[in-house]
Amino acid sequence: MTPLTAFIVVTAGVFGLLIGSFLNVVAYRVPAGISLLRESRCPQCDAAVKPWQNVPVVSWLALRGRCAACHSPIAPRYAVVEGITGLAFAAIAWWALTAGLAVPATSSPQIWADALIIIAFLYFAAISIVLTLIDLDTHRLPNAIVLPSYLVAGVLLTAASALSGDWIALLRAAIGMVSLYAFYFLLRLARPGGMGGGDVKLAGVVGLYLGFIGWGALVVGAFAAFVLGGVFGLALIALRRAGRKTAIPFGPWMIAGAWVGIFTGEALARWYMELFASV
Ligand SMILES: [Zn+2]
Repeated sequence: MTPLTAFIVVTAGVFGLLIGSFLNVVAYRVPAGISLLRESRCPQCDAAVKPWQNVPVVSWLALRGRCAACHSPIAPRYAVVEGITGLAFAAIAWWALTAGLAVPATSSPQIWADALIIIAFLYFAAISIVLTLIDLDTHRLPNAIVLPSYLVAGVLLTAASALSGDWIALLRAAIGMVSLYAFYFLLRLARPGGMGGGDVKLAGVVGLYLGFIGWGALVVGAFAAFVLGGVFGLALIALRRAGRKTAIPFGPWMIAGAWVGIFTGEALARWYMELFASV
């Protein structure tokens, strides 16, 4: 790892801690219909959270997981979400700079294109975390988060393609978006009550990101969602924590599958092709 790569990875990680703090607020307030602009208050005693009490992870540890005013416990989930977001942002920056971006940046427009692609995937990491939390909490994937994601990803990745001249990636993204949306739409038609409307809308966003990376990422990412969700569902049934009819939110599995596709899809596809070439 070069010093510059290390610097970018650490910066992305610190930025992720701050974004993680914001995601906690979004995950709590969006389903409850509370404004994101209101200042944070303790849910027990209504004391305003001061800036030094709002430092990601550090404040929670310094306060030993309790409110500074009334000492009622603050769920470890807040610090865990901040930590996971920081690690995810660092991992994406590292992946993008070492393996993810097909063309190592040498020219100035390419560097800007790569930067936009990294920002687009950091955004996807942020909505991955917040949508997983909300889907687990409420069994919903709010339109207020899913629908603007088409615009954010579309604008960032289109601008990246315009700078790099790699329009094939953008075309693949469009095909990925339409095909994964259509696939989940048909699944929902075939088995009403299985997938929700939110799952169908999220599938388009997931297809867009996976397609931008490559066909291998698209296929592996789409498939991995069902493998992970299926294994988890069978495990729950085996542990008698769920019956055949228990509703398990699928959003988190679609998202987890997408990240498997992003990080391993292209390498797996190459390995699979070589397997066939050698026969
Ligand atoms: Zn309090």
